[in-house]
Formats: sequence, C-alpha cells, structure tokens
Amino acid sequence: MDLWMTEWQTQHLGMSVRIKETLFSGRSSFQEIAVVESEPFGRMLVLDGVFQTSLFDEFIYHEMMAHVSLSTHPNPKRILIIGGGDGGTAREVLRHPSVEKVEMIEIDGMVVDVCKEFLPEISAALIADSARLEVKIGDGIQHMSQAENEYDVIIVDCSDPIGPGEGLFTKAFYRDVYRALKADGLFVQQTESPFYHQELIRRLWLDVDDLFPVARMYLAYIPLYPGGMHSFTMGSKKTDPLEADLRPLPFRTKYFNESIYRSCFALPNFVQELLTAKTK
Ligand code: SAM
Repeated sequence: MDLWMTEWQTQHLGMSVRIKETLFSGRSSFQEIAVVESEPFGRMLVLDGVFQTSLFDEFIYHEMMAHVSLSTHPNPKRILIIGGGDGGTAREVLRHPSVEKVEMIEIDGMVVDVCKEFLPEISAALIADSARLEVKIGDGIQHMSQAENEYDVIIVDCSDPIGPGEGLFTKAFYRDVYRALKADGLFVQQTESPFYHQELIRRLWLDVDDLFPVARMYLAYIPLYPGGMHSFTMGSKKTDPLEADLRPLPFRTKYFNESIYRSCFALPNFVQELLTAKTK
C-alpha cells in the first residue's frame, strides 16, 4: 500500500513524505505521538501531525541549539533544557567538557519513553543515564517560575506555540528565564520559520529584545522544517555572540564550525525588517 503523511504548513501548503512503516502511534495526556519510518528522512518523530525530528537531518537542529549557545558562554557549567524530549539537544550539550550538570524538563514522559525505544541514535544521552544529566517530567513554564540565578545556559527546545508549548513564547516566560539565569547567562529558543511564523517572530523578538541587554537571531537550514530556513532567538545578559571568542570544540561536528558560528547571525533583509517592524 502507498502510504503518505502530510504536515500542513499553511492552509495551502503541506509537506508530504512517503511512509514505509508506522513504528509507534499513541496518545499521551498532551499530544498524539507517532514514530514513522519514512523514505526521505528515515525515522521521524511526529507530534500532533507536526514533524519534530528525523534521523536524516537532526544533527543540524541539535548542533545549532547546543553549540551556538554553549560556544557563546565563556564557561558553561549548569545547563537547563526545556522540552527536548527526543534527547538530541542533551546529547550535544553533554559533549562539552565544561558542562557539569544538565537538567532537562520535558512535559510529556511518553515522548521520552518512545524516543528511547524507537530513536536510540537521537536519545542516546537519555539511554546512557549519565550522572551529569537529570531528566524531570514536568512543565517547563512552572519550573521556570521558581528558578533564580541558577543556570549558565537555558535551551528552550520546544514544539510549536500551540498546546503545552504556547506559554513558552510569552513575555512572562522570558522574564522568568532572565531571572533563572546567572549574571553572565544566556538562553536560546527555536523560534520557527521566518517565512511562515512572522507574527510570532516579531512579537517574541520585541519581548526578548526588551528584556535582555543582548538579543540576537540566527538561522540554520533544516530540510524537515517549513521552508527549510529555521530561526533561533538568543537573549544574553552579557556576552554578545558577535564579539565572542570561540573555543575550538574537542569533538567532531557535522554542521557546526567556526565559519557557521560567525555567519549564522547574518540575516537577510526581510528577516531584519521583521525584527525592526512594530507589532500591530
Ligand atoms: N526539534 C523539535 C522542533 O523544533 O520541532 C522540538 C523537539 S522536542 C520533541 C519538543 C518537546 O517540547 C516535546 O516533546 C513537547 O512535549 C515539549 N514541550 C512542549 N511544551 C512544554 C512545556 N511547557 N514544558 C516542557 N516541555 C514541553
């Protein structure tokens, strides 16, 4: 049988992938979870019909979440990941020798269990059960409201701004992130497509820029995500990534390197204009 799965990016645009096999399909208290074996992307995690990660290109997203932020901080030791239930960001963060402790707060325990079973390449750090990694099942928004001066780097590896992820894109949340960071701390969040989420990007940029002394956006090119071009927003209390001294990474990466770090903050005019435009 010829099986296809479509993620609708707008009412008029969808990306369809040919499916070889559905490996898991179930419903948690938060969302529909599926793991499929696809022709173009290999194994994929799908939440509520939205493609989250794939074996084909996950290295781009996870390296750009972890290595851009950790390379910007002068000495990252205490890291918090919000979301990130597939474990890919934790895997990359733990490769940094300076990191002493990583906390990961994922709202949906079923995502963690399913990824450990069906996506071991991505969830390797969760399976390895490192003493440096503590996985908590809970709401990142609630956790954030109670933390103060604790973290060097906070990585918000969230799903789309609907359902449990909605509150992760609000000014109240960014205020809590600011308070939870140490004096030279910084945070990064995946902030969707500059083509298809313009209102969201404009709004969250104004919030982050208002709260943090340094606000920067950077881009990476990820075939699985709408339009291919994906944005990440960084708020930093002290270090500006445009002026950071880069430490060479003592491990191999597939996407990230010094030239990528130096160039990923360069924004096309239409993205720059999005950030400077006033909200309605
Ligand atoms: N790479 C992915 C992307 O951009 O599509 C994101 C991957 S990761 C699977 C996103 C995770 O965020 C999901 O597992 C979801 O359960 C989790 N999440 C959503 N809202 C959350 C919240 N309020 N607190 C903690 N985790 C949350």
